[in-house]
Amino acid sequence: MGFFGCHLSSSGGNLKMVETALSIDANTFAFFTRNPRGSHAKTEDPKDAMAACSLMRDSGFGPLVAHGSYTMNLCTADSDARIFAAGVLQDDLRRMALLPGNYYNFHPGSHVGQGVERGIGQIVDALRAALTHKYPVTVLLETMAGKGSEIGGDFSQLRAILDGVGSDDLGVCLDTCHVWDAGYDIVQDLDGVIHEFDRVIGLSRLKALHLNDSKNPSSSKKDRHACLGDGFLGLETFRNIVKHPKLKGIPMILETPNELPGYQREISILRKLEAE
Ligand SMILES: [Zn+2]
Repeated sequence: MGFFGCHLSSSGGNLKMVETALSIDANTFAFFTRNPRGSHAKTEDPKDAMAACSLMRDSGFGPLVAHGSYTMNLCTADSDARIFAAGVLQDDLRRMALLPGNYYNFHPGSHVGQGVERGIGQIVDALRAALTHKYPVTVLLETMAGKGSEIGGDFSQLRAILDGVGSDDLGVCLDTCHVWDAGYDIVQDLDGVIHEFDRVIGLSRLKALHLNDSKNPSSSKKDRHACLGDGFLGLETFRNIVKHPKLKGIPMILETPNELPGYQREISILRKLEAE
């Protein structure tokens, strides 16, 4: 049985998220480690985290895929802001140590005119500094749509970050809307895209998927998520994904424009597609 889940609000704490996930038949989930559009983080509660871990273990959960804040840009041109972002990354990983064995995913960053090479160098520097602490979490770089000056719209850019950091504690989260918007045709040629991912990045680095339909055609570089079946990807593409032998066992997280009942509906769709 696949690991399916969605983004949940972290406002009630970790145990509450696990209980909410169970109530909608999810067996993984994502949450923002802090305000997604700011930097505020809640105070830590080790007892709550332990209770959450124990309930996840008893319920057969797959790894969680926490999400860093959208405002954390490791390759912003302003050096003070860049140092601040690198500090946020380290603080997030330190906090994630309360949920050992799980994943922390983030958007690599936008170079804002500095150029791809320089941006990648700054992301590498921040990751190298953060990963020296050896927290028990795997950090994931998200594949991006390539909107504006975003880094990560091309698999080769993620490869360059992995090479620069040179750590095994680094993986990749593939977002279906983003790769489609970036020009990888997962509708007509999912096998070809998986093969290309394997060739450039290596499938052993693929640790999580974000399942989102896209409001835009391929190569649009827009990054606007749609509900499953309501966009250019269509349910057939998600059937191919959840049934693909090379994607088995990888946690798949919905970031579709839904509240809880919509997520529950989409998780049941995914489970049906998987069983077909
Ligand atoms: Zn995503």
